[in-house]
This record gives sequence, structure tokens and C-alpha cells, in this order.
Amino acid sequence: MVEVAVIGAGIAGLTCARRLQAAGKTIVLIDKSRGLGGRLATRRLAGTHADHGVCYLQAKDSQFQAWIDELVSGGILQVWTNGIHRLSADGVLQSPTKSAPYYAAPMGATSIAKYLGRDLEIIGDKLITDISPIDNGWRLSTKDPEFSLTAAQVIIATPPAQALNIARESIGAQSIEQLASVQFTRSITTIAVYPETDQNAATAIPWQGIQCIEHPTLAWIGLDSSKQIEPKQPVLVIQSSAAFAEQYFDAPDLSIIGQKLIDEIAPFIPTLHAPELVQVHRWGYAFTKNPLSERFLTAQTIAPLYFCGDWCGGNRVESAYLSGMALADRILNLSIT
Ligand SMILES: Cc1cc2nc3c(=O)[nH]c(=O)nc-3n(C[C@H](O)[C@H](O)[C@H](O)COP(=O)(O)OP(=O)(O)OC[C@H]3O[C@@H](n4cnc5c(N)ncnc54)[C@H](O)[C@@H]3O)c2cc1C
Repeated sequence: MVEVAVIGAGIAGLTCARRLQAAGKTIVLIDKSRGLGGRLATRRLAGTHADHGVCYLQAKDSQFQAWIDELVSGGILQVWTNGIHRLSADGVLQSPTKSAPYYAAPMGATSIAKYLGRDLEIIGDKLITDISPIDNGWRLSTKDPEFSLTAAQVIIATPPAQALNIARESIGAQSIEQLASVQFTRSITTIAVYPETDQNAATAIPWQGIQCIEHPTLAWIGLDSSKQIEPKQPVLVIQSSAAFAEQYFDAPDLSIIGQKLIDEIAPFIPTLHAPELVQVHRWGYAFTKNPLSERFLTAQTIAPLYFCGDWCGGNRVESAYLSGMALADRILNLSIT
């Protein structure tokens, strides 16, 4: 039996697991995906890559800033820009005012997760379907009857709807109600890769990223290739608004939906030709609409069971990191929050 099983290798699960392991606990992390990072996601494409989840990191909290500084020293992150353009609902593009730095990973956002996951035991490609109480702990189950894992304590570091899928039968009504109260928006993200011959034209684009404020179709337009040290070809990442994602989430042909988003941004990239490669990704759980004020949740169960994630305290990487840290501190009795 391991001491702690962490379900979900996103930023919250990875952060929590690292801190517990550093304090001497035996940890196993399990994720349904083959790769690490959850919404810290990078798509490898012929000759280039794109972050189709998290675009950048920004810090308000000093503990999170210190961690960013560590990643900058390790060459994982660098300052990407000090200002993001804004697009208003009626289509007016505004230049940025100087703000706190926006950090990005030149090798792709998943390099952050790989850095966090080093030295951790991680079982990938395993969707946990259920946890059930046993003597002094929990049994974790998947659809594979051969899978066997028991743990004294379990941490579920997934969006709350996914946590409920795993733990609903094992937790009380109050925990179910808390988890069920948290709502998420959806997102449709399109990656557009342009020919190498367009790279000079891309360097003339006057923005790295455009935040779209209450726009009916768009949430974000990023010149993702500008995060790379020596980009060879332009790569754009376009995130839809939540309303657009609701409308088209189940569309049978995603390529048509991706083209709608590309058509929408045409006025902002007049110097680029048609993309040579387009990929579209659906996020069922993109951003928390109504985060909880608690940094983590503790279920009222005989063996310890906890929940953490960005939705505990916010809807960004920063809140996921702080949630994972706060829960680890609680388990190590370093904090009583
Ligand atoms: C398109 C998009 C753009 C974003 N841009 C930014 C940005 O620029 N800056 C920013 O700070 N934040 C951004 N965010 C938000 C950010 O991605 C999240 O706040 C953060 O990554 C959440 O981390 P997490 O660890 O809480 O959850 P997740 O990253 O969702 O991790 C949960 C993990 O649990 C796994 N899992 C789920 N169910 C199971 C199961 N049953 N069994 C096993 N594993 C399971 C999943 O595979 C996943 O790896 C963006 C999000 C999206 C979708």
C-alpha cells in the first residue's frame, strides 16, 4: 500500500505530489492521459509545437512568483511579454499598458509539467473510475480488472465533475454538494500553422497575444510561435468564447468550427496566407466560473480523502499551484487552513 495516491497529474496534483515526496512520503500519481500536465498542454506538430491549453503564467502571489523564478533559472520559463492587447466586444483593438510580466515556456507548456514530474512515480493512461474504502485506506479501480492499487490516503486533483465521477459513492452529501456547485466553462481551441515563407511577415505582427473581452466568438488570439527562441514558421492559437464553445461543442465536423475561428481573426493577420495545418481541440472543463474560497476540500471519510485543483481559490495555474501546495502543507501538518 502506498502512503498517498494522487489522481490527476495537472499542475495541482504534480505540485502536491512533489511537496509530499520531498517530505518523505511514498507517492504514486495516476493520470488518464499518457502525458503529464492536464490543461498545461502542448501539441507537437511537424517541425513546431503549440500550447493549446495554458498560454502564459502570471503571478500575483509571492510564493507562486518564487516558483516561477525557479523555472526561469532552470531555463523552463522566460518572460514572453509585458503587455497583451485587448479586443473589445465591438471589435476595437487596444494596445497594452505595461503590466506584470507574462511568462511562457519556449519548449512548450508541458515542459513545466515534465519538470515537476521528474523523480515522481507516475502511472499514465489509466482512468480511475472508482475508489472504495478498505481497511486503513482506499482501493483505486480502473476498467482494467488487472489494475491494482491501494493507498492510505487519496488526493483527487481533477476538475470537480471528474472528481465526483470517481468518489461520489464514497463521500457524504455535503462534499457532493460542494463539488457539484462548481461550474466550468468549455472552450474550443484552434491551432493554425502557417508556411515558413510567412515567418518574416509574422515578425511584423504588432502583438504577441490578444485578450478578447466579452467578445461573442473569441476569448484569445496568441502568436504562439513568438514564445519560441527561433521560430521557423508562424503558429497561432485561437481560443473560442465560452458561448461559442457551448454552441459548437458537439459539432460532428470540428474542421468547420476551426475555420470559423480562423475566419474571425483574419482582420488581425492581414500579412499571413492560408494556414498549412489546422488542428482543433475541445476542452470540456476550461475555466472555473465560480471558484470555491477554500484552497482544498477534505471529505468526511474514515480514511483520508482530499480534493484540490485550480477551482479551489481561482481558475488559473496560480490557483492550481497554490491549492496543491496548501493541501500538501495540511497533510504534513504545516498548516491548519
Ligand atoms: C484553453 C485554455 C487556456 C488557458 N489559459 C491559461 C493561461 O494562459 N494561464 C493560466 O494561468 N491558466 C490558463 N488556463 C487555466 C489552467 O489551464 C488551469 O487553471 C490549470 O491548468 C488547472 O490545473 P489543475 O491541475 O487544477 O487541473 P488539470 O490541468 O485539469 O489537471 C487534472 C488532471 O486530472 C486528470 N484526470 C481527470 N480525471 C481523471 C481520472 N478519472 N483518472 C485519472 N486522471 C484523471 C486529467 O487528465 C488532468 O491531467 C487555461 C485553460 C484552458 C482550457
